[in-house]
Amino acid sequence: MEGLGSLLFFAILFFVMMRWGCGAHMMHGHGGHGSHNKKKYIDPVCDMEVDVDKGYGMTHQGEPYRFCTRSCLEKFDADPERFINKKVGENHEM
Ligand SMILES: [Zn+2]
Repeated sequence: MEGLGSLLFFAILFFVMMRWGCGAHMMHGHGGHGSHNKKKYIDPVCDMEVDVDKGYGMTHQGEPYRFCTRSCLEKFDADPERFINKKVGENHEM
């Protein structure tokens, strides 16, 4: 029974990976829907704009963040909540 279970598990995993890989490829192929200006991130540590292909990126609790320098990333990584709360507190657009 255990052998069958793991076989089924791998079959499902493979299926999901195929679907995912294919979907990701198709999205890349279309080249994003008409956004020619590059997306920018705000460095939560120093509030600088960081291009999507520059600086250092990390994901915290499913949210992508980017940092202008590695030291900003390290500051954030040491105490993420501090910078996230700061950002939310100051920003009253939401
Ligand atoms: Zn920075």
